[in-house]
Amino acid sequence: MDIKSKNNYTITSPGSKTDYKNFPMVPRVIFGTGCFGQLGEILLPKRINSGTPFIFLVDDVFEGTGLVSRIPLIFNDRIIFISADEEPKTDQVDVLVQKIKNDYAHLPSGIIGIGGGTILDLAKAVAIMLTNKGNAHQYQGWDLVKKSSIYHVGIPTISGTGAEVSRTTVLLGPEKKLGINSDYTTFDQVLMDPDLTIGVPREQWFYTGMDCFIHCIESLNGTFLNAFSQSYGEKALELCKEVYLEDLREDEARNKLMMASWHGGMSIAYSQVGVAHAMSYGLSYLLGVRHGIGNCLVFRHLKEFYPEGVDLFNKMKEKHNIQLPQGICRELTDNDFEIMINVALGLVPLWENALGKEWQRLITPEKLKSIYKKI
Ligand code: NAD
Ligand code: ZN
Repeated sequence: MDIKSKNNYTITSPGSKTDYKNFPMVPRVIFGTGCFGQLGEILLPKRINSGTPFIFLVDDVFEGTGLVSRIPLIFNDRIIFISADEEPKTDQVDVLVQKIKNDYAHLPSGIIGIGGGTILDLAKAVAIMLTNKGNAHQYQGWDLVKKSSIYHVGIPTISGTGAEVSRTTVLLGPEKKLGINSDYTTFDQVLMDPDLTIGVPREQWFYTGMDCFIHCIESLNGTFLNAFSQSYGEKALELCKEVYLEDLREDEARNKLMMASWHGGMSIAYSQVGVAHAMSYGLSYLLGVRHGIGNCLVFRHLKEFYPEGVDLFNKMKEKHNIQLPQGICRELTDNDFEIMINVALGLVPLWENALGKEWQRLITPEKLKSIYKKI
């Protein structure tokens, strides 16, 4: 007999068919200070031939810096600098793919993303769209990608999103902000060199790191929780507490935050995020508020959902003297609130994880409006 457990997974008698998800993981990862220097030897065996280049999508914050001179370019490899001022869009992916197809006779040997969540997500999406027909927005959703992507490598330069391990690439499309969730999205290789995060501005370090912290709180307090997610979530939470509440050496803090991001991403792979992410997507869709800061803006008002998490968050915020902007939603119209509320309530799995199957009885548009009004 099959019993639906409260966390949505089916409990079955031995030998019968189950419907657990069979997820891909990043098959190769290198971690350590200075390991960026090994990128050339990692890529060498993956080069198809001298005419098929590696394309490096690099955050333009690195333009003219020493990092760029260390990128191991040979033959017709190319660097494309990309601004992370705005989060990635589906038509930006389409333009990049078209450019690569126009400029080269053959598909590249691989795509390498060097940057934060914005650039990592772009690299994943470009790698997928080089082998799949049509436009990126057609693949926003779950398991819509038909063909395997080209080889792609993620090199994070800021820690927290977990984009380096996840099987999604979050894109703003013409109709929605939604990921391309597929088995082909996950990177083939990740290179984690904590020294690459040295120049991150302090506030951004806090916002993106809090993305990881909030992943942990939402995963660990969700109804989808299971031993797999819990094991990663608890480790990531412990690392976040060390980084943001203790006085670690800077290099130690960089190493630990990088691993926190990894574990936080793994934790939500087999569960879901929750209230802060749902509401932050609304803010992002209407106002273009970026992911890390958007989560912080919402999370501090969620004490009734995550009492201990919000207390910890406030301690971390105080310790690092972070002033969050106020009054973001002050000037908004009723119609604006409605748009944000619809985006947020559309994210059904997040609410189900946060509040259970009966979530609609616990959260109403009025309730969400009252929280948005505080932001
Ligand atoms: P980001 O990539 O948007 O970068 C934030 C800022 O930090 C940018 O100005 C960037 O130029 C700068 N920066 C990055 N590295 C730097 C460095 N070493 N030195 C100086 N400046 C540096 O930030 P993020 O918070 O990592 O990513 C947010 C994006 O990630 C959003 O688009 C969000 O949707 C996405 N995301 C994806 C997933 C996923 O699983 N795919 C999960 C969470 C978030
Ligand atoms: Zn997040």
